[in-house]
Formats: sequence, structure tokens, C-alpha cells
Amino acid sequence: TFKDNDLSKVVAADKANVWHHLSQHKQYETSDPRIIVEGKGMRVWDQNGKEFIDAVSGGVWTVNVGYGREEICDAVRDQLMKLCYFAQTAGSIPAALFAEKLIDKMPGMSRVYYTNSGSDANEKVFKIVRQISHKKYGGKKHKILYRDRDYHGSTLAAMSATGQHERIAQYGPFAPGFVKVPHCMEYRKHELGLEDLSGAEFGRAAADQIEKVILEEGPETVGLLCLEPITAGGGVIEAPEGYWERVREICDKYDILLHIDEVVCGVGRTGKWFGYQHFGIEPDFVTMAKGVASGYAAIACMVTTEKVFDMFKEDPSDHMSHFRDISTFGGCTAGPAAALVNMQIIEDEGLLENTTKMGERMRANFLKLQEKHAVIGDVRGKGLFQGLELVKDRETKEPVDEAQAQAVVGNCGAQGVIIGVTNRSLPGRNNTLCFSPALIATEEDIDAICDAVDNALTAVFG
Ligand code: PLP
Repeated sequence: TFKDNDLSKVVAADKANVWHHLSQHKQYETSDPRIIVEGKGMRVWDQNGKEFIDAVSGGVWTVNVGYGREEICDAVRDQLMKLCYFAQTAGSIPAALFAEKLIDKMPGMSRVYYTNSGSDANEKVFKIVRQISHKKYGGKKHKILYRDRDYHGSTLAAMSATGQHERIAQYGPFAPGFVKVPHCMEYRKHELGLEDLSGAEFGRAAADQIEKVILEEGPETVGLLCLEPITAGGGVIEAPEGYWERVREICDKYDILLHIDEVVCGVGRTGKWFGYQHFGIEPDFVTMAKGVASGYAAIACMVTTEKVFDMFKEDPSDHMSHFRDISTFGGCTAGPAAALVNMQIIEDEGLLENTTKMGERMRANFLKLQEKHAVIGDVRGKGLFQGLELVKDRETKEPVDEAQAQAVVGNCGAQGVIIGVTNRSLPGRNNTLCFSPALIATEEDIDAICDAVDNALTAVFG
């Protein structure tokens, strides 16, 4: 096993030549980066052989079915030996079969476009909307609305649609035609001037703020509204009751297409196949990436309706009329081969039901912790996608300093539990602990994660 290998060489190579994501490397002049060497189920081991419960599914909500799944690896190996790649200008067996299986879970949708990252999948939607605007509206209906606190990816147009200060500061100027709408976070409704409303009344009023922006911009200029079903990196934010029905109504009223970015929530994370399926609405576009193949292969999908698809079959004599786009790695067959087995595992092992049950347990544990620790201002989330917002004072809701939230993460790590911290809206104030264990989590796993958080909060805040 890896324990027989000399991993000091690996650590040295990493320190000499790897640039880690989202990381300040100065720290590695006096400490070693964590190298994750092996994983099994929902546990991983680092270069020192230390075992961790992975409460964030690979760091960023990805390894939904857990590590070390032989059946996925076998399917990928067999497919790679048969045909590793052919551009998606042609079809492949796993691409066709996974598309059929996926569409079966998404009533109202009918077409799957394969690509290689969440950012890229979102860019496909933006391009389709721009092309429709040229085809049908003389280029006028081109604006893309996105929401404060949402994130849609790391490429420049995806960042142009991102409402998180930390992600976008220092990377402008951005693409034109992207317009921000307010967030819908009930915990911070005072920021929206809606502190007197609650429940569905608040939800509808938060959605009405989107309509206000549409009217200011001119509905004839707006082509798309792009939203996360539950805002992930922006602080694990669920929209209140009443919000989504009103959002769909507003989009229909002004002929605006609705895009739900399921890159995090998709494929079981919240206890349904897709986050939007909790809300009783049908979107026009859905994008997904992380959990589609649980990280066993890189795959992302942009899914849409036959109505949108049909617009690109009009005027076949015009050679510019079809969707003039390609992603090279959308043709990798390992992705859909892995995704097919990944979805089958979720079905065979009843992981949607487990996610709902374990999510309820996690939430109940966290609500108990909230009674004990005044620093927990809010408990949020659905299924195995939960967040704890830490505040200095429950009245003012002032976020704790990021260093304190990081100390909680560090303390959990020392106890052998990897958790995350996010928010990304205010500089230096990432104050929301986040949890997204694999959908296979057991009661013991959930309790162990929550116990570690309890200990860490006591250690950091007393
Ligand atoms: N959309 C959401 C909601 C995300 O959280 C992310 C990544 O965290 C992305 C899009 C971008 O996905 P990728 O990193 O695969 O480009």
C-alpha cells in the first residue's frame, strides 16, 4: 500500500511544482500541504496515514457515492478499452445510454449536451441564450440575470454571472450584459428591506425584487434568469416558500428562460435527483457536474427542453442556424460510463432516501448544537447539504471573523473530520461551516461529524 512508499518525495514534488486551488502558498514554506492518498467509502487517508471522515465529499461536494467503487472503475476501464474518445459531433454508446437514463429523471426535459466542467456547462446556456437572441430578437433579448451570493464558475462569463465578492474581486472587467438581482436569504432579509415579512410572503416579495430589475432593464432585453436551487458557496441558502413558483411565473410573464445551476445540488445531494424538484417547477435549462459521476471521471451536462432544442433545427439551409459549439472533452466516454453506474448505485442502494433521512438527523443534531452554542446563528440546508452560519451576536448577526471559522475547520481536521467553510460574500468573513458527506453516510458517521463540530465550537468559542 502507499504506506510502503516514500511519500516525502511526493510532498517535496508537490511543494516544488503544484499550485493548489484557492490556496495561499506562503503557508507551505513552514508546513506541508495535505496530500490525500487513498479513499474508501466516506473515509480518506493523508500522507501520514491519518484517517479522516470526509464530510465534504472530496472537498467540494463531489464524491456522492463515496470512494473506492469497483463497479464504476470496472465500467470505466471496459469503456476506455473499447473506445476512450470520439468527439460529440458523433455519438457513443455510454453518452446515449446515460442521456436516456438522465432524462428519465427529469420530466419536461429532453436533450443532454455533454461538456467537461460546471463553468463550461453554464457557458453553454449563456451562448444558447445569446444565439436565440440573435435568431429571434435581433440581438436585443441578450441579458442574463444572476443572483447576489450565487456562483456559476471560474471562467470569465461564468464569473460575470457570479454574485460573490471574493470570487470576482480583482478579475474584472467582466462580460457585458450580465445583471445582478438580489438574494433571497430569509436570515438576512434586513439587507433586502423585507424584515417585516416572513414565510411565503417573504418568498414572494424576494422574487418580486427580480421582477423589479427586469422592469428596470426592460423585459425585451432580458433572455435568461440563472439561479442555484440552493446557493452553495454563497452560504448554503435555501429560498423561502413561495419564491420558486413566483420566479417561474415572472419568467413566463416576460418570456425569459429559467436556468437552474445544479452543479452542486444535482444527482441526489438534497434527497431528490435535482434540487429544483423540491419546488414543483420546471426549468428551461439545468446544468450539472460534480456529482454526475462522483468524481470518478470528469463530466458535466447541460440539459434543456425540446422547445429550446427545436429552435436550432429551424432554417437548416442556413449553415449558421445550429448551435455552433463544441467542448473537446465532452467526447470522453469515461464520463457517461461512470455516470451510468453512479446513478444505478444511487437507485440500487436507496441513496435518495438515505440522504433525506441522514439529512434530517444532521439537521436535528445541529439544532441541538444551536441551543448550546450561541455562535450558531442559523442552521440551513436540505438533505446532505447543510450549513451553519456563525455570528458574533444573534441580534446584530455580525459574522464571526474568518480566522475563527477556519479555527473550527482546523480543530475538526485535528479530530479526523474534514468539513468546509464558505460564504464568499463579504471579504474576510467566510463564516458558514458547510457539510456535504457522501450519500452513503450512516447514523454513526453523521453523529461523529456533529460531535466533532460540537467539540471544535467549544474549543474555539468556549
Ligand atoms: N456552479 C456552481 C453552483 C458551483 O458551485 C460550481 C463550482 O463549485 C460551478 C458552477 C463551477 O463548476 P466547475 O468548477 O466544474 O467549473
